[in-house]
Amino acid sequence: MKYRNKEYWKKVVSNANDSVIQLSKKLEKERNWKKDYPFIKFIFVDDEQDESPYIHRVDDACEIIFNKGFLKWLDEPILDIALDEEFSNSFELVKSQTISDISYWIQNQWISWFLYHEVGHFICGHLTGKSKIWEEWTSYEHMKLSAKTKLAYEYDADIFAAQTYFRALANMIKSPSGSYKFDTNDFIKDIGFIFFAFFVYIGRKNPTNNSHPVAQDRMMIFLRIGFVTLQRFLSRNVDKEMSIFKSGFMESLSCIGDEGLNFTKFNWSNVSSKLKENREELLNNKLNERRLSIIDADWLRFNYLSSEA
Ligand SMILES: [Zn+2]
Repeated sequence: MKYRNKEYWKKVVSNANDSVIQLSKKLEKERNWKKDYPFIKFIFVDDEQDESPYIHRVDDACEIIFNKGFLKWLDEPILDIALDEEFSNSFELVKSQTISDISYWIQNQWISWFLYHEVGHFICGHLTGKSKIWEEWTSYEHMKLSAKTKLAYEYDADIFAAQTYFRALANMIKSPSGSYKFDTNDFIKDIGFIFFAFFVYIGRKNPTNNSHPVAQDRMMIFLRIGFVTLQRFLSRNVDKEMSIFKSGFMESLSCIGDEGLNFTKFNWSNVSSKLKENREELLNNKLNERRLSIIDADWLRFNYLSSEA
């Protein structure tokens, strides 16, 4: 499993395809979609040089494009984790022998986040103007957006991603015996574990990135918005899940060491005021009117995030 051969990549691409189909079907059902084409179409491009994920609007549907370069970029820290015995043996899902190869599982979780983020650009109405393509990492001059507006869109997509990810987690907790084979507490601890590493990695790759929120803030958004969403969908207190998740964070920190320390200096009120600013920017751009459909617990309709999240 530590070998990144043809078979490995084939499976990674096929898993990504499955995730897109699953999300597309869910959204089609919510939208009562009757078209003969999917709401989200998955396209894989075997280009190792292009590391950016893309989303294209095609009329009322969209296409998500993952390049080989993007999947390889994502795999870099996963391989490090797989090769590091202390790290890989710390997973609850490995300890309980639910999973033997942690690599695919991590890929799936991270790809889900990226997928939700990209689809967020579409559903949140970022592509309803002249632009039909959202290119994540390279250039965005063609989008004709100011840097300020572009950044606000990234906050919007991050919030959509956190909400979608934790809504799926709520469903898993509600029906643990459904199609999931995981113990939910093990799962929650391990996602805390890998998402801490994920945002540290994003911060390492792009420390002076000003086109996206800084990595620490993205992690805070994932955590705080995620747990507000979880609480909403479970209609109960989620302190227990939050503390399990945080224990995964801390374990990840002890594996990562110094580099992760910056990430523990949480300052929610700082992030919260940035959210407020970016929410204003989105409202000024009438994004609340440009949503493709009603988004559950849309932060542009209910400002439930600025308070005690
Ligand atoms: Zn984005």
